[in-house]
Amino acid sequence: MRRGICPKCGQANIRCARNCSYWHGASTTGEMRVRVTPQPLSTEVSSLVDTYVCVSCGYFEQYLMSAEAIHAIAANWTYCPPQPTT
Ligand SMILES: [Zn+2]
Repeated sequence: MRRGICPKCGQANIRCARNCSYWHGASTTGEMRVRVTPQPLSTEVSSLVDTYVCVSCGYFEQYLMSAEAIHAIAANWTYCPPQPTT
């Protein structure tokens, strides 16, 4: 989607907003929180978020921009293994 093509409908009609929101998640439980101030609590990881929207079908994707937040998630959240398709 970041390459300009919608993975759902195939249209090249994507809009993006960089750093448009702020994500906070508890570093150990993965509980997601919405806060109105940009300062995270000590138990949280946080990241600016880039959002991509397909204006043909409405599908959207969001990406955490903080490598530190992604690293904390990789270290603490439950691994989701690939599932065979039938
Ligand atoms: Zn689409």
